[in-house]
Amino acid sequence: MPELPEVETIKRNLRPNIIGKTISEIEILSPKNFIGDKKSAIGKKIVKVERYGKVLILTLSNNEYLNIHFKLSGQMLFSENVNKAVFKNPIPFTKSNTMPANTTRVIIKFKNGSGLFFNDLRKFGWIKVSDKPLIPKGIDVLSKKFTPNVIEGLTNKTRRPIKVLLMDQDLITGIGNIYANDSLFLAKIHPQRPANSLNKNEVKNLHKAILQEIKKGINDQGSSGADEAFILPDGSKGKHQRNFLVYQREKQPCLICKTIIKRIKHHGRSSFFCPHCQK
Ligand SMILES: [Zn+2]
Repeated sequence: MPELPEVETIKRNLRPNIIGKTISEIEILSPKNFIGDKKSAIGKKIVKVERYGKVLILTLSNNEYLNIHFKLSGQMLFSENVNKAVFKNPIPFTKSNTMPANTTRVIIKFKNGSGLFFNDLRKFGWIKVSDKPLIPKGIDVLSKKFTPNVIEGLTNKTRRPIKVLLMDQDLITGIGNIYANDSLFLAKIHPQRPANSLNKNEVKNLHKAILQEIKKGINDQGSSGADEAFILPDGSKGKHQRNFLVYQREKQPCLICKTIIKRIKHHGRSSFFCPHCQK
């Protein structure tokens, strides 16, 4: 699932390609993935591309918004030639390097002949038209408001496992399974620890670890791991999977102590950790 670094990467790559362009048509191939009236977007210019948590928000010239959530398997591809789109590599889950593909749900066409393909194998992702931006409730990891005090305020109140708390988008927004696992490893905290058992120092280390991992993910242009759909808008892969610490490293040695990394199913998701380093 695209997390903050992946959506940030999509945002940075889309900006130079779509800001200032006029939407000439929106083709909805799967009505489930497009909510609202497409007519309010047609003929409008894209004036801004922003990211809040894992949500990408395009501001249109009529002050309407296209809000995009990638959920489990969403992809956004940009082509200079929307009617004959060819990419360098085969696109994950489509078995093809041409668009539209079997997983393409929405096509946004621009007046100059370029366009966007919104692909989503699992169909949980969406594009919503709205008159207000759909900004997630939680505090964005990259905002100035995200401080050790914020984490302390959240952890103090609950015995919920720390990893589950970090991934609750209504509290903190942007962290999913990849960056939660690797941040907890870096902070030497076991994913199942009750949140209120963390001391001040651990909270401080965790805050630092989250920022470090999220920023590394952005520098690596996101993670395109073994079973993940994430790709950049030009069809190329992210590089952060080469720098995973514990995520998807089950049965491999810990990078610090060589103990074998464990994987457990935890609240419906896989947790990866070093049983020796993480307490
Ligand atoms: Zn270890």
